[in-house]
Amino acid sequence: LKIDKDGAEFLPADEWTGKGLHEVFPLLFNKFGENVGISAIGVAGERLMSSAGICFNDIDNRPSRYAGRGGLGAVLGSKGLKFIVVDDKGAKGVEIVDKDAFKKGTKKLTEALTTHDITKPGGSLNTYGTAVLVNIMNEAGGYPTRNFSEGRFEGAAATSGEAIHDICNERGGAGKTGHPCHPGCIIQCSNVYPRPDGTEHVSCIEYESDWAFGANCGIDDLDAIADLIWLSNDYGLDTIEAGGTIAVAMEAQLAEFGDGPKAIELMKEIGEGTPLGHVLGSGAATTGKVFGVVRVPGVKGQNMPAYEPRAVKGIGMVYATSTMGADHTAGYTIAPEILGVGGEADPLDADKAALARGFQEATAFIDSTGYCLFIAFAVLDIPEGLEGTVESCNGVLGTDWTTDDIARIGREVLDKELEFNKAAGFTKAHDRLPEFMKYEKLPPHNTVFDVPDEELDKVHRG
Ligand code: SF4
Repeated sequence: LKIDKDGAEFLPADEWTGKGLHEVFPLLFNKFGENVGISAIGVAGERLMSSAGICFNDIDNRPSRYAGRGGLGAVLGSKGLKFIVVDDKGAKGVEIVDKDAFKKGTKKLTEALTTHDITKPGGSLNTYGTAVLVNIMNEAGGYPTRNFSEGRFEGAAATSGEAIHDICNERGGAGKTGHPCHPGCIIQCSNVYPRPDGTEHVSCIEYESDWAFGANCGIDDLDAIADLIWLSNDYGLDTIEAGGTIAVAMEAQLAEFGDGPKAIELMKEIGEGTPLGHVLGSGAATTGKVFGVVRVPGVKGQNMPAYEPRAVKGIGMVYATSTMGADHTAGYTIAPEILGVGGEADPLDADKAALARGFQEATAFIDSTGYCLFIAFAVLDIPEGLEGTVESCNGVLGTDWTTDDIARIGREVLDKELEFNKAAGFTKAHDRLPEFMKYEKLPPHNTVFDVPDEELDKVHRG
Protein backbone atom coordinates (compact mmCIF):
# COMPACT_ATOMS: atom_id res chain seq x y z
CA LEU A 1 0.00 0.00 0.00
CA LYS A 2 1.45 3.34 -1.02
CA ILE A 3 0.09 6.54 0.50
CA ASP A 4 1.05 10.00 -0.72
CA LYS A 5 -0.54 13.43 -1.14
CA ASP A 6 -2.61 12.18 -4.06
CA GLY A 7 -4.16 9.24 -2.23
CA ALA A 8 -3.60 5.55 -1.65
CA GLU A 9 -2.69 2.85 -4.10
CA PHE A 10 -2.35 -0.92 -3.78
CA LEU A 11 0.66 -2.42 -5.51
CA PRO A 12 1.67 -6.04 -6.08
CA ALA A 13 4.29 -7.07 -3.50
CA ASP A 14 5.24 -10.51 -4.81
CA GLU A 15 8.82 -9.58 -5.62
CA TRP A 16 9.44 -8.65 -1.96
CA THR A 17 7.86 -11.63 -0.25
CA GLY A 18 9.76 -14.60 1.18
CA LYS A 19 12.88 -12.50 1.76
CA GLY A 20 14.63 -11.08 4.81
CA LEU A 21 13.82 -7.47 5.70
CA HIS A 22 17.51 -6.48 5.59
CA GLU A 23 17.39 -7.34 1.89
CA VAL A 24 13.93 -5.91 1.23
CA PHE A 25 14.21 -2.47 2.89
CA PRO A 26 17.04 -1.13 0.67
CA LEU A 27 15.10 -2.34 -2.40
CA LEU A 28 11.97 -0.53 -1.22
CA PHE A 29 13.85 2.70 -0.49
CA ASN A 30 15.51 2.40 -3.86
CA LYS A 31 12.15 2.17 -5.56
CA PHE A 32 10.15 4.70 -3.54
CA GLY A 33 12.85 7.19 -2.51
CA GLU A 34 15.07 7.58 0.54
CA ASN A 35 12.69 9.93 2.37
CA VAL A 36 9.59 7.77 2.56
CA GLY A 37 8.53 5.97 5.74
CA ILE A 38 8.05 2.22 5.57
CA SER A 39 6.22 -0.23 7.78
CA ALA A 40 6.41 -3.85 6.75
CA ILE A 41 6.07 -7.45 7.78
CA GLY A 42 8.71 -10.12 7.37
CA VAL A 43 8.40 -13.80 6.59
CA ALA A 44 6.95 -14.39 10.08
CA GLY A 45 3.99 -12.13 9.29
CA GLU A 46 3.59 -13.62 5.83
CA ARG A 47 3.27 -17.04 7.49
CA LEU A 48 0.74 -15.66 10.01
CA MET A 49 2.96 -16.51 12.98
CA SER A 50 1.62 -14.98 16.17
CA SER A 51 5.08 -13.68 17.19
CA ALA A 52 5.20 -11.47 14.11
CA GLY A 53 5.47 -7.72 14.61
CA ILE A 54 5.29 -4.76 12.27
CA CYS A 55 8.70 -3.37 11.38
CA PHE A 56 9.42 0.33 10.76
CA ASN A 57 12.53 1.95 9.37
CA ASP A 58 14.74 3.91 11.77
CA ILE A 59 16.38 7.26 11.06
CA ASP A 60 19.00 5.53 8.86
CA ASN A 61 16.35 3.43 7.07
CA ARG A 62 17.23 0.18 8.83
CA PRO A 63 14.42 -2.34 9.38
CA SER A 64 14.79 -2.13 13.13
CA ARG A 65 11.99 -0.36 15.02
CA TYR A 66 8.92 -2.36 15.90
CA ALA A 67 5.29 -2.39 16.82
CA GLY A 68 6.45 -5.68 18.20
CA ARG A 69 3.85 -7.09 20.50
CA GLY A 70 0.48 -8.74 20.06
CA GLY A 71 1.11 -10.47 16.75
CA LEU A 72 0.24 -7.42 14.64
CA GLY A 73 2.46 -8.68 11.83
CA ALA A 74 0.18 -11.70 11.45
CA VAL A 75 -2.81 -9.34 11.18
CA LEU A 76 -1.18 -7.53 8.24
CA GLY A 77 -0.20 -10.90 6.79
CA SER A 78 -3.78 -12.14 7.00
CA LYS A 79 -4.83 -9.15 4.86
CA GLY A 80 -2.07 -9.85 2.34
CA LEU A 81 -0.49 -6.50 3.22
CA LYS A 82 3.30 -6.76 2.95
CA PHE A 83 4.23 -3.12 3.48
CA ILE A 84 2.91 0.41 3.74
CA VAL A 85 4.94 3.21 2.19
CA VAL A 86 4.13 6.75 3.27
CA ASP A 87 5.52 9.55 1.12
CA ASP A 88 4.78 12.97 2.60
CA LYS A 89 6.41 14.95 -0.20
CA GLY A 90 4.18 17.90 -1.05
CA ALA A 91 1.65 16.97 1.64
CA LYS A 92 0.44 19.76 3.88
CA GLY A 93 1.44 18.08 7.16
CA VAL A 94 -0.24 18.35 10.54
CA GLU A 95 -2.31 21.48 11.06
CA ILE A 96 -1.54 23.19 14.33
CA VAL A 97 -4.54 25.11 15.61
CA ASP A 98 -2.68 27.31 18.12
CA LYS A 99 0.99 27.61 17.23
CA ASP A 100 1.84 29.71 20.28
CA ALA A 101 0.37 27.20 22.72
CA PHE A 102 2.15 24.39 20.88
CA LYS A 103 5.50 26.18 21.08
CA LYS A 104 5.09 27.02 24.75
CA GLY A 105 4.09 23.46 25.57
CA THR A 106 6.95 21.81 23.68
CA LYS A 107 9.40 24.28 25.28
CA LYS A 108 8.33 23.18 28.76
CA LEU A 109 8.53 19.54 27.77
CA THR A 110 11.97 20.00 26.22
CA GLU A 111 13.22 21.72 29.37
CA ALA A 112 12.07 18.77 31.45
CA LEU A 113 13.68 16.24 29.10
CA THR A 114 16.98 18.09 28.97
CA THR A 115 17.27 18.44 32.76
CA HIS A 116 16.06 15.11 34.16
CA ASP A 117 18.93 12.72 35.01
CA ILE A 118 17.42 9.83 33.06
CA THR A 119 16.51 11.71 29.86
CA LYS A 120 19.00 14.60 29.59
CA PRO A 121 21.92 14.65 27.13
CA GLY A 122 24.67 12.62 28.80
CA GLY A 123 22.04 11.13 31.14
CA SER A 124 21.57 7.44 31.72
CA LEU A 125 19.38 6.63 28.69
CA ASN A 126 21.50 8.71 26.33
CA THR A 127 24.78 7.22 27.57
CA TYR A 128 23.91 3.57 28.15
CA GLY A 129 20.60 3.07 26.32
CA THR A 130 17.63 1.26 27.79
CA ALA A 131 19.95 -1.61 28.77
CA VAL A 132 21.10 0.62 31.63
CA LEU A 133 18.30 -1.24 33.40
CA VAL A 134 20.10 -4.60 33.28
CA ASN A 135 22.27 -4.02 36.34
CA ILE A 136 19.50 -2.13 38.14
CA MET A 137 16.90 -4.89 37.73
CA ASN A 138 19.48 -7.56 38.47
CA GLU A 139 20.48 -5.80 41.69
CA ALA A 140 16.79 -5.59 42.62
CA GLY A 141 16.49 -9.37 42.18
CA GLY A 142 13.77 -8.83 39.57
CA TYR A 143 15.70 -9.71 36.41
CA PRO A 144 14.01 -12.85 35.00
CA THR A 145 16.65 -15.48 34.35
CA ARG A 146 16.51 -18.85 32.56
CA ASN A 147 12.83 -18.73 31.74
CA PHE A 148 11.72 -16.98 34.92
CA SER A 149 13.30 -19.48 37.29
CA GLU A 150 15.60 -16.98 39.07
CA GLY A 151 15.68 -13.22 39.66
CA ARG A 152 19.39 -12.64 39.19
CA PHE A 153 21.70 -13.43 36.29
CA GLU A 154 25.42 -14.00 36.78
CA GLY A 155 25.99 -12.65 33.25
CA ALA A 156 24.21 -9.34 33.88
CA ALA A 157 27.33 -7.15 33.93
CA ALA A 158 28.64 -8.71 30.69
CA THR A 159 25.36 -7.94 28.91
CA SER A 160 24.57 -4.57 30.53
CA GLY A 161 24.15 -1.15 28.96
CA GLU A 162 27.52 -0.26 30.43
CA ALA A 163 29.08 -3.23 28.57
CA ILE A 164 27.38 -2.19 25.31
CA HIS A 165 28.72 1.34 25.81
CA ASP A 166 32.27 0.07 26.43
CA ILE A 167 32.19 -2.30 23.44
CA CYS A 168 30.97 0.50 21.16
CA ASN A 169 33.90 2.64 22.32
CA GLU A 170 36.51 -0.12 22.18
CA ARG A 171 35.52 -1.52 18.79
CA GLY A 172 34.79 1.92 17.31
CA GLY A 173 33.80 2.02 13.65
CA ALA A 174 30.03 1.93 13.26
CA GLY A 175 29.54 1.37 17.00
CA LYS A 176 27.53 4.10 18.63
CA THR A 177 25.42 4.87 21.68
CA GLY A 178 23.30 8.02 21.98
CA HIS A 179 21.69 7.25 18.63
CA PRO A 180 18.22 8.69 17.84
CA CYS A 181 15.80 6.16 16.40
CA HIS A 182 13.97 8.90 14.54
CA PRO A 183 14.44 12.59 13.71
CA GLY A 184 13.74 15.12 16.44
CA CYS A 185 14.37 12.84 19.41
CA ILE A 186 15.94 14.65 22.35
CA ILE A 187 16.69 11.63 24.54
CA GLN A 188 18.49 9.53 21.89
CA CYS A 189 18.62 6.20 23.71
CA SER A 190 19.25 3.91 20.72
CA ASN A 191 22.56 2.31 19.76
CA VAL A 192 24.39 0.72 16.85
CA TYR A 193 26.24 -2.36 18.05
CA PRO A 194 29.49 -3.17 16.21
CA ARG A 195 31.22 -6.44 15.30
CA PRO A 196 34.78 -6.96 16.58
CA ASP A 197 36.11 -5.38 13.36
CA GLY A 198 33.97 -2.26 13.88
CA THR A 199 31.44 -2.97 11.12
CA GLU A 200 27.78 -2.69 12.00
CA HIS A 201 26.24 -5.76 13.60
CA VAL A 202 22.78 -4.67 14.68
CA SER A 203 20.73 -1.70 15.79
CA CYS A 204 19.47 -1.57 18.39
CA ILE A 205 20.27 -3.69 21.45
CA GLU A 206 17.39 -2.58 23.65
CA TYR A 207 16.99 -3.68 27.27
CA GLU A 208 14.08 -5.98 26.43
CA SER A 209 15.76 -7.67 23.44
CA ASP A 210 19.05 -7.92 25.34
CA TRP A 211 17.27 -9.63 28.22
CA ALA A 212 14.98 -11.82 26.08
CA PHE A 213 17.90 -13.48 24.29
CA GLY A 214 20.35 -12.91 27.16
CA ALA A 215 19.39 -13.61 30.78
CA ASN A 216 16.11 -15.28 29.88
CA CYS A 217 18.00 -17.81 27.74
CA GLY A 218 21.02 -17.84 30.08
CA ILE A 219 23.21 -16.36 27.31
CA ASP A 220 25.89 -13.93 28.50
CA ASP A 221 27.50 -13.18 25.12
CA LEU A 222 26.48 -9.84 23.58
CA ASP A 223 27.65 -10.91 20.11
CA ALA A 224 25.32 -13.94 20.18
CA ILE A 225 22.52 -11.71 21.48
CA ALA A 226 23.20 -9.28 18.62
CA ASP A 227 22.92 -12.17 16.13
CA LEU A 228 19.57 -13.20 17.59
CA ILE A 229 18.22 -9.63 17.46
CA TRP A 230 19.43 -9.29 13.86
CA LEU A 231 17.58 -12.48 12.91
CA SER A 232 14.43 -11.24 14.66
CA ASN A 233 14.62 -8.00 12.71
CA ASP A 234 15.21 -9.94 9.50
CA TYR A 235 12.21 -12.24 9.98
CA GLY A 236 9.92 -9.54 11.39
CA LEU A 237 9.57 -10.97 14.90
CA ASP A 238 8.80 -9.48 18.30
CA THR A 239 12.10 -9.97 20.18
CA ILE A 240 10.38 -10.34 23.56
CA GLU A 241 8.17 -13.16 22.32
CA ALA A 242 10.97 -14.75 20.27
CA GLY A 243 13.37 -14.76 23.24
CA GLY A 244 10.64 -15.99 25.56
CA THR A 245 9.91 -18.80 23.12
CA ILE A 246 13.55 -19.87 22.88
CA ALA A 247 13.67 -19.90 26.70
CA VAL A 248 10.59 -22.15 26.85
CA ALA A 249 12.17 -24.35 24.15
CA MET A 250 15.29 -24.57 26.34
CA GLU A 251 13.09 -25.56 29.26
CA ALA A 252 11.75 -28.30 26.96
CA GLN A 253 15.38 -29.38 26.40
CA LEU A 254 15.54 -28.43 22.73
CA ALA A 255 18.74 -26.64 23.76
CA GLU A 256 20.75 -26.04 26.92
CA PHE A 257 20.30 -22.72 28.68
CA GLY A 258 23.26 -20.55 27.74
CA ASP A 259 23.86 -22.22 24.37
CA GLY A 260 24.00 -19.24 21.98
CA PRO A 261 24.78 -21.19 18.77
CA LYS A 262 21.87 -23.59 19.39
CA ALA A 263 19.54 -20.66 20.10
CA ILE A 264 20.57 -19.20 16.74
CA GLU A 265 19.79 -22.55 15.06
CA LEU A 266 16.32 -22.57 16.62
CA MET A 267 15.70 -19.02 15.40
CA LYS A 268 16.71 -20.06 11.89
CA GLU A 269 14.02 -22.76 11.98
CA ILE A 270 11.51 -19.89 12.24
CA GLY A 271 13.08 -18.06 9.30
CA GLU A 272 13.11 -21.20 7.18
CA GLY A 273 9.51 -22.00 8.05
CA THR A 274 10.19 -25.60 9.07
CA PRO A 275 7.49 -27.45 11.07
CA LEU A 276 9.45 -26.75 14.28
CA GLY A 277 9.89 -23.16 13.13
CA HIS A 278 6.12 -22.78 12.80
CA VAL A 279 5.66 -23.97 16.38
CA LEU A 280 8.35 -21.60 17.69
CA GLY A 281 7.05 -18.72 15.56
CA SER A 282 3.67 -19.19 17.18
CA GLY A 283 5.12 -17.97 20.47
CA ALA A 284 5.95 -19.16 23.95
CA ALA A 285 2.42 -20.22 24.95
CA THR A 286 2.02 -22.48 21.90
CA THR A 287 5.56 -23.82 22.24
CA GLY A 288 4.88 -24.59 25.91
CA LYS A 289 1.71 -26.49 25.02
CA VAL A 290 3.36 -28.49 22.24
CA PHE A 291 6.28 -29.54 24.43
CA GLY A 292 4.40 -29.87 27.72
CA VAL A 293 6.18 -27.07 29.59
CA VAL A 294 4.44 -25.83 32.75
CA ARG A 295 6.62 -22.79 33.36
CA VAL A 296 5.25 -20.54 30.61
CA PRO A 297 5.38 -16.95 31.88
CA GLY A 298 2.58 -15.34 29.89
CA VAL A 299 -0.77 -13.60 30.24
CA LYS A 300 -3.50 -13.78 27.59
CA GLY A 301 -1.09 -15.77 25.44
CA GLN A 302 1.65 -13.13 25.46
CA ASN A 303 5.03 -13.75 27.09
CA MET A 304 6.16 -11.48 29.92
CA PRO A 305 8.84 -8.87 29.37
CA ALA A 306 11.96 -8.26 31.48
CA TYR A 307 10.56 -7.58 34.96
CA GLU A 308 9.79 -10.37 37.44
CA PRO A 309 6.31 -10.00 38.93
CA ARG A 310 7.21 -12.03 42.02
CA ALA A 311 9.91 -9.46 42.85
CA VAL A 312 8.02 -6.37 41.64
CA LYS A 313 4.34 -6.86 42.40
CA GLY A 314 2.91 -3.72 40.78
CA ILE A 315 4.24 -4.60 37.35
CA GLY A 316 2.76 -8.08 37.83
CA MET A 317 -0.63 -6.46 38.38
CA VAL A 318 -0.18 -4.52 35.15
CA TYR A 319 0.80 -7.70 33.30
CA ALA A 320 -2.33 -9.40 34.62
CA THR A 321 -4.77 -6.61 33.83
CA SER A 322 -3.33 -5.00 30.71
CA THR A 323 -5.79 -5.26 27.85
CA MET A 324 -3.05 -6.57 25.58
CA GLY A 325 -1.57 -9.35 27.70
CA ALA A 326 1.67 -9.24 29.68
CA ASP A 327 3.14 -5.88 28.80
CA HIS A 328 5.33 -3.44 30.74
CA THR A 329 4.65 -0.46 28.50
CA ALA A 330 0.95 -0.56 29.42
CA GLY A 331 1.80 0.89 32.85
CA TYR A 332 5.42 1.20 33.83
CA THR A 333 5.14 0.92 37.61
CA ILE A 334 8.84 0.04 37.61
CA ALA A 335 9.33 3.84 37.74
CA PRO A 336 8.22 4.21 41.39
CA GLU A 337 8.82 0.58 42.41
CA ILE A 338 12.48 0.39 41.35
CA LEU A 339 13.69 3.72 39.96
CA GLY A 340 12.18 6.13 42.47
CA VAL A 341 10.64 8.11 39.61
CA GLY A 342 7.14 9.54 40.06
CA GLY A 343 7.22 8.69 43.79
CA GLU A 344 8.40 5.60 45.62
CA ALA A 345 6.67 2.27 46.19
CA ASP A 346 7.95 -0.90 47.89
CA PRO A 347 8.32 -3.45 45.05
CA LEU A 348 7.23 -6.34 47.29
CA ASP A 349 4.07 -4.61 48.52
CA ALA A 350 0.99 -6.29 47.01
CA ASP A 351 -1.52 -3.50 47.69
CA LYS A 352 -1.17 -1.67 44.40
CA ALA A 353 -4.49 -1.68 42.51
CA ALA A 354 -4.56 2.13 42.45
CA LEU A 355 -0.95 2.34 41.25
CA ALA A 356 -1.54 -0.21 38.47
CA ARG A 357 -4.69 1.65 37.42
CA GLY A 358 -3.11 5.12 37.53
CA PHE A 359 -0.11 4.09 35.47
CA GLN A 360 -2.25 2.38 32.84
CA GLU A 361 -4.45 5.47 32.52
CA ALA A 362 -1.52 7.88 32.26
CA THR A 363 0.19 5.61 29.74
CA ALA A 364 -2.92 5.31 27.57
CA PHE A 365 -2.92 9.12 27.44
CA ILE A 366 0.79 9.44 26.54
CA ASP A 367 0.49 6.69 23.93
CA SER A 368 -2.40 8.60 22.37
CA THR A 369 -0.32 11.77 22.03
CA GLY A 370 2.24 10.07 19.79
CA TYR A 371 5.13 11.04 22.07
CA CYS A 372 7.73 8.37 22.82
CA LEU A 373 6.77 6.80 26.15
CA PHE A 374 10.24 7.56 27.51
CA ILE A 375 9.21 11.18 28.08
CA ALA A 376 7.38 9.74 31.10
CA PHE A 377 10.61 9.47 33.12
CA ALA A 378 10.97 13.25 33.05
CA VAL A 379 7.35 14.35 33.15
CA LEU A 380 6.48 12.10 36.10
CA ASP A 381 9.04 14.00 38.18
CA ILE A 382 8.83 17.50 36.71
CA PRO A 383 5.26 18.92 36.82
CA GLU A 384 6.02 21.62 34.20
CA GLY A 385 7.03 18.85 31.78
CA LEU A 386 3.67 17.14 32.20
CA GLU A 387 1.88 20.46 31.74
CA GLY A 388 3.93 21.08 28.60
CA THR A 389 2.92 17.67 27.23
CA VAL A 390 -0.77 18.49 27.64
CA GLU A 391 -0.35 22.07 26.39
CA SER A 392 1.41 20.90 23.23
CA CYS A 393 -1.61 18.69 22.54
CA ASN A 394 -3.91 21.66 23.14
CA GLY A 395 -1.85 23.61 20.62
CA VAL A 396 -2.32 20.96 17.95
CA LEU A 397 -5.96 20.19 18.65
CA GLY A 398 -7.33 23.49 19.96
CA THR A 399 -8.51 21.79 23.16
CA ASP A 400 -8.24 23.24 26.66
CA TRP A 401 -7.18 20.17 28.60
CA THR A 402 -5.21 20.38 31.82
CA THR A 403 -3.19 17.68 33.55
CA ASP A 404 -6.41 16.82 35.43
CA ASP A 405 -7.80 15.45 32.15
CA ILE A 406 -5.03 12.87 31.71
CA ALA A 407 -6.62 10.13 33.80
CA ARG A 408 -10.06 10.75 32.27
CA ILE A 409 -8.77 10.53 28.70
CA GLY A 410 -6.65 7.48 29.52
CA ARG A 411 -9.67 5.83 31.18
CA GLU A 412 -11.79 6.39 28.07
CA VAL A 413 -9.14 4.65 25.97
CA LEU A 414 -8.85 1.72 28.38
CA ASP A 415 -12.63 1.32 28.67
CA LYS A 416 -12.89 1.02 24.90
CA GLU A 417 -10.14 -1.60 24.90
CA LEU A 418 -11.84 -3.51 27.72
CA GLU A 419 -15.11 -3.41 25.79
CA PHE A 420 -13.33 -4.85 22.77
CA ASN A 421 -11.79 -7.62 24.88
CA LYS A 422 -15.14 -8.44 26.46
CA ALA A 423 -16.74 -8.79 23.04
CA ALA A 424 -13.83 -11.03 22.06
CA GLY A 425 -14.63 -13.35 24.97
CA PHE A 426 -12.14 -12.24 27.62
CA THR A 427 -13.27 -12.33 31.24
CA LYS A 428 -11.58 -11.48 34.53
CA ALA A 429 -10.38 -15.10 34.65
CA HIS A 430 -7.91 -14.03 31.95
CA ASP A 431 -6.57 -11.24 34.20
CA ARG A 432 -4.35 -13.67 36.08
CA LEU A 433 -0.68 -14.58 36.16
CA PRO A 434 0.32 -18.18 35.41
CA GLU A 435 -0.23 -20.65 38.22
CA PHE A 436 3.46 -21.50 38.80
CA MET A 437 4.15 -17.95 39.97
CA LYS A 438 1.80 -18.51 42.91
CA TYR A 439 3.68 -21.51 44.32
CA GLU A 440 7.23 -21.39 42.91
CA LYS A 441 9.42 -19.15 45.09
CA LEU A 442 11.71 -16.88 43.13
CA PRO A 443 15.26 -16.43 44.38
CA PRO A 444 16.86 -14.24 45.68
CA HIS A 445 13.81 -12.83 47.51
CA ASN A 446 12.14 -16.25 47.68
CA THR A 447 8.75 -14.68 47.10
CA VAL A 448 5.69 -15.80 45.16
CA PHE A 449 3.10 -13.64 43.39
CA ASP A 450 0.69 -13.25 46.27
CA VAL A 451 -1.61 -10.50 45.01
CA PRO A 452 -5.17 -11.73 45.70
CA ASP A 453 -7.51 -12.08 42.72
CA GLU A 454 -9.88 -9.51 44.31
CA GLU A 455 -7.05 -6.97 44.27
CA LEU A 456 -6.44 -7.66 40.56
CA ASP A 457 -10.16 -7.23 39.87
CA LYS A 458 -10.03 -3.79 41.49
CA VAL A 459 -7.47 -2.46 38.98
CA HIS A 460 -9.95 -1.58 36.25
CA ARG A 461 -13.18 -1.85 38.15
CA GLY A 462 -12.20 0.39 41.07
S1 SF4 B 1 13.89 8.08 23.42
FE1 SF4 B 1 12.27 7.13 22.22
S2 SF4 B 1 12.32 8.16 20.23
FE2 SF4 B 1 14.27 8.58 21.24
S3 SF4 B 1 15.73 7.00 20.54
FE3 SF4 B 1 14.80 6.28 22.45
S4 SF4 B 1 13.02 5.04 21.78
FE4 SF4 B 1 13.64 6.33 20.03
